[in-house]
Amino acid sequence: MLTTNPFDSDPDGDVLHEECGVFGIWDADTAAAMVALGLHALQHRGQEAAGITSWDGQQFHTHRAMGHVAGNFDKPDVIDMLPGRVACGHVRYSTAGETALRNVQPLFAELASGGFAVAHNGNISNAVKLRRTLIHRGSIFQSTSDTETIIHLVATSSYRTLLDKFIDALKQLEGAYSLVCLTPEGLIACRDPLGIRPLVMGKVGDSLIVASETVALDVVGAKFLREVEPGELVVISEQGVRSHHPFAPTAPRPCVFEQVYFSRPDSIVNGSSVYAVRKRIGAELALESPVEADLTIPVPDSGVPAAIGYAQQSGIPFELGIIRSHYVGRTFIQPGDQVRHLGVKLKHNANRTLIDGQRIVLIDDSIVRGTTSVKILQMLRDAGAAEVHLRIASPPTRHSCFYGVDTPERAKLLAAQMTVAEMADYIGADSLAFISVDGLYRALGEPGRDAERPHYCDACFTGDYPTHLTDHEDLAPADQLALLAERVVV
Ligand code: SF4
Repeated sequence: MLTTNPFDSDPDGDVLHEECGVFGIWDADTAAAMVALGLHALQHRGQEAAGITSWDGQQFHTHRAMGHVAGNFDKPDVIDMLPGRVACGHVRYSTAGETALRNVQPLFAELASGGFAVAHNGNISNAVKLRRTLIHRGSIFQSTSDTETIIHLVATSSYRTLLDKFIDALKQLEGAYSLVCLTPEGLIACRDPLGIRPLVMGKVGDSLIVASETVALDVVGAKFLREVEPGELVVISEQGVRSHHPFAPTAPRPCVFEQVYFSRPDSIVNGSSVYAVRKRIGAELALESPVEADLTIPVPDSGVPAAIGYAQQSGIPFELGIIRSHYVGRTFIQPGDQVRHLGVKLKHNANRTLIDGQRIVLIDDSIVRGTTSVKILQMLRDAGAAEVHLRIASPPTRHSCFYGVDTPERAKLLAAQMTVAEMADYIGADSLAFISVDGLYRALGEPGRDAERPHYCDACFTGDYPTHLTDHEDLAPADQLALLAERVVV
């Protein structure tokens, strides 16, 4: 059992859940153990399940389990079952496919070309359509995961070499994918043409690594080399590192929410420190939406860097007015409604002596359904706050994500249903303001959002999706509902 849980338990389904994390290593004495360490650093990207596949030069070995990396991959006997100098792994938060061991990655299949293991971060937005075609042609699926589609596309490709089959498969995909694949021909890493999900390369000794975030490189003592470029496919093998660009060049659109919320603040994403970006978002928020207050208080932990930025820009002192317990685990919250409704108070508690009689500017990273905000505002009122002004370090989340982030359907997004004034009323804030989309881009070092060529995917704020959404657009309403039910895990 974990003694600390640095990640949000979410009894109300009111935080956006990260997508997944991937990690692969080539040529290491203790490849599986290194992957376990890397996955541990990526645990914030998915806490439902984890898996590792290794290759010993002859055979592939896989261990997959529900739950956290610690507890499943910290035992020598488990690591001993994963021999070899090459391995890849995955942490998962379910965004497509039910939560079940058969959907836990890496997924593995024996193809005509040999073993093929795949770990995927993202979501294939035409997976349902591809799957139907593949099933019609005789493919037998083992899971309900969109990732398995990739395996069947590779398996049934008429191209001759594994690499050509793989590229043929990729060209049929739509949506977001950062992939790490283990094959007898080497470790293959690739990113979708828009680079929606991150993927970086690093090196420790002679071992080469690919990982979702730089923090996973730090943890194993590896040096950051570079990002895998959007649309790039990298093959790491005994012949060295080969880079391929199989897609027509296009302007990248990496996920802007990685900077706002998903990535760890100690990671470097798109060349920028996530921590520094979040502080700049807070500073922009202070410029755009100033308020007279006595204290700047973050909703911990994710609101902290933006609150520091807000406080520094506004001159309103930063204080830890809400203390977060790091000892709240899902198992404690889940047993029944009587305990369940206490969730927020168990996780967050007002620092009463600080709050009493003060005018608070409260900083949070986002509002999803709003249920958590309601409880936190009430908690501050109960602690004697004279005023609470809520400032949000992202624009209103009005649209669902189809690229691997678990958002509720639109009908459940508060900002899709209410104006900002109505939201302030509903939450019980004296005032409410979100950073503007242009302000967010300014915090990222841009002059503002270029509507003709936006530099990021910002679809959950703007509705401007950078790819087709075939499954969402083409399917009959009943099928869409079924798809949604698969995507949304509460
Ligand atoms: S829709 Fe939002 S969360 Fe999803 S990839 Fe785009 S910016 Fe990121």
